Amino acid sequence: MKKPLVIIGSGHAGYTLARAFRQLDTSTPVIILTQDGGEQYPKPQLSHGFGQQMAAEQLVQQHATAIAAELKIMVRPNTLVTAIDFDAKLVHAGAVQIPYSDLVLAVGAEPFVPAIRGDAAQDILTLNNLEQYRRYVAQLERSERVLVIGGGLIGTEIAHDIARHKQVTLVDIGSRLLERLVPEVVSQRLHRAMAPVTMRFGTAVDRIDRAATGYHVKLSNGEILNVDAVICAAGLKPRLELAGGLATARGISVDRYMRTSQPNVYALGDCAEIEGQILPYLQPITLSARALASTLAGTPQPVRFGPLPVAVKTPHYPIQLAGVTHGPALDWQISEGDDGLTALAHRDSKLVGYVTTGSRNGFSLLPSLAG
Ligand SMILES: Cc1cc2nc3c(=O)[nH]c(=O)nc-3n(C[C@H](O)[C@H](O)[C@H](O)COP(=O)(O)OP(=O)(O)OC[C@H]3O[C@@H](n4cnc5c(N)ncnc54)[C@H](O)[C@@H]3O)c2cc1C
Repeated sequence: MKKPLVIIGSGHAGYTLARAFRQLDTSTPVIILTQDGGEQYPKPQLSHGFGQQMAAEQLVQQHATAIAAELKIMVRPNTLVTAIDFDAKLVHAGAVQIPYSDLVLAVGAEPFVPAIRGDAAQDILTLNNLEQYRRYVAQLERSERVLVIGGGLIGTEIAHDIARHKQVTLVDIGSRLLERLVPEVVSQRLHRAMAPVTMRFGTAVDRIDRAATGYHVKLSNGEILNVDAVICAAGLKPRLELAGGLATARGISVDRYMRTSQPNVYALGDCAEIEGQILPYLQPITLSARALASTLAGTPQPVRFGPLPVAVKTPHYPIQLAGVTHGPALDWQISEGDDGLTALAHRDSKLVGYVTTGSRNGFSLLPSLAG
């Protein structure tokens, strides 16, 4: 019997690949091994589900058994892959060994939590999968005062969302919200739109200790906060536990065919670094998965990305951006009206990126962005 295509991971990367591959190849056995329950859910909703009082179960779009039946594949939930033998082409999940013809690592990323001292540091919540969302909702329901660490994309969305129901403080080591994504004027407008959230910039969380009720949080500037829950959204780092024997940098190094340094082994999604770039968003993962499906089905296809549009889910002040919107030598041209703001980023007189807010939409600018 033909050895299977084995995919490790049932996130957007793993399932998009399985669907795209099945459209091209209906006979090769496909096995998905996944540490979690194998539910398909829209991960972007994690950062704005609490505001809408969504339980984890309401986010589930399809269960593993239904996906397996639909695609005629095998999905093995609650199966932690512990090692890979690249020479023998075997995946080890505890005592179980599974041979592969081709292997795809779609193992995602894990939240980065900075070193924080104190007897409650292990109580810090993170938000990168359904299980973490369950814990987050349960803790928030018992909480009134919430601290969010990180004012990047996910931290900002979380703070904006929770502030519908809770008293929120956001702490960021940088100087403003979305510092690495938007020009200063957009951070200022967003800050104003998120007025009920208390912001602390240029400082970090030093320690978290249990108090009679909730936690005492000490910031590096000496300030003490009393809160009932702490959520860390300080970034994600690609999971590399299974990458021993593969070339890695920040993520698992792959080329535009998603090929790793081992034959017949590929990496896809948040764990992959494609020619030096980590692109932890749905659209580039979808494009990569489709290209890889074609390659695995016998027609090698490199992935190509155009400028990637990103929407910030802050309904009080919606933001969209694409292209280069951060870095040196950017010359911003900004216009603002009642319907929002448009910020055009130029470098060497070429349009390289844009940020729009409110009801303004920059999609029409996408084709004119210099690559
Ligand atoms: C809160 C939040 C909001 C976001 N919002 C947006 C947005 O608005 N727009 C956008 O484009 N992107 C957004 N993203 C990013 C996007 O959701 C991710 O880039 C994408 O979902 C990652 O998919 P993935 O399959 O690579 O990883 P994951 O979804 O993390 O899947 C990894 C899978 O690997 C499995 N796994 C890991 N290790 C093992 C092992 N050893 N053995 C077995 N299984 C293993 C896990 O169980 C899991 O099934 C957001 C992300 C977050 C966290």
